[in-house]
Amino acid sequence: MPEHRVYNFSAGPAVLPEPVLKQAQKDLWNIAGSGVGILEHSHRGKVFDKVLAEAEADCREVGNIPANYKVLFLQGGASQQFFMVPMNFLPADKSGAADYFETGEWSAKAIAEAKMFGRINVCGSSKDTNYSYIPPPSQRKYTPGTKYCWIESNSTVYGIAFKGVPEDCAKGVPIVADASSDIFSAPIDVTKYGMIIAGAQKNLGPSGTVVVIARNDLIETGRTDLPTMLQYRTHAKNESRYNTPPTFGIYLMGQTFKWIKSMGGLRAIEKINREKAALLYDHLDAQDFFIPHAQKDSRSIMNITFKCPTAELDEKFCKEAQAAGLDALKGHRTIGGMRASIYNAFPVEGVRALVEFMKKFEMANAGAAAAAR
Ligand SMILES: *Cc1c(COP(=O)(O)O)cnc(C)c1O
Repeated sequence: MPEHRVYNFSAGPAVLPEPVLKQAQKDLWNIAGSGVGILEHSHRGKVFDKVLAEAEADCREVGNIPANYKVLFLQGGASQQFFMVPMNFLPADKSGAADYFETGEWSAKAIAEAKMFGRINVCGSSKDTNYSYIPPPSQRKYTPGTKYCWIESNSTVYGIAFKGVPEDCAKGVPIVADASSDIFSAPIDVTKYGMIIAGAQKNLGPSGTVVVIARNDLIETGRTDLPTMLQYRTHAKNESRYNTPPTFGIYLMGQTFKWIKSMGGLRAIEKINREKAALLYDHLDAQDFFIPHAQKDSRSIMNITFKCPTAELDEKFCKEAQAAGLDALKGHRTIGGMRASIYNAFPVEGVRALVEFMKKFEMANAGAAAAAR
């Protein structure tokens, strides 16, 4: 473990790559020999021109993003996208419809927002089991003539994830993915999406900044009678500089894209992520003290959720884990238990340390667990 750092399992804002943080420390003081720190540069000056151009180019390279998609850096968090998407793409008279998968906290919130703008059909939901699985094709019901289909590709709170896009979705209906917690955790076929949105604070950078990858023709279908800042075309036309963009967020994401490249790209990142997740899932499957939340075929490799036999033991686990240098394992308030968020930048040693800690905890508390059963 590096000096003065603990293993940070936070769901977001979350752990960032160490080389990125070290570089940011330098660039905060003086970037590119300019004598000015990154926070202090004009968003229209030469230094930031380069930061923005490289961030976009590296994002495109990492994600293999085709030329007919725009890469936009926006503000307002992923939550702002919950209303910006329906506001732009459903007609003003609210006669439009969209399909939404309800597979967690954030898609439920997105549905609530979208209902202000049109008829929202929940085409698949796992709410009945507190979101422990991705609804299989047999449980899906799509609406004909729908404007788009929304998925939360990885459920940050519950630890379930889609495997790619729902291929059975009607042809020609753009898929809009909230990929906040699994963006660039594995190779992604951008051409299968109309739009991909991601808050930066899980896998890419600081909170407040959002990356939006959107197909040009979809952007153009957006309403033109909205406030300028709330139309995607404004940001597309002005290459994310209609107003002052979140310059530090763009800088830091740019550094993260460079780090992903230095690691060997998304194929290499996916391999490491799968190894990390397997360490934890293999242990969960090999014991009977902890209870995993996600059903096997829907497991996330980013957020791994499990419980002790009792809520008291959950609390004890989190407290003792923290004392052992394993920080922020407490689950979201809507599910309880524990959540290990092991994003791209989370080190494999931290996962090994967690598994070792779990083994010790099981042994020490087997009596209390048996009494509870
Ligand atoms: C964290 C998260 C959000 C919310 O992001 P904000 O930046 O707080 O608005 C939305 N969707 C998903 C999937 C998330 O993980």
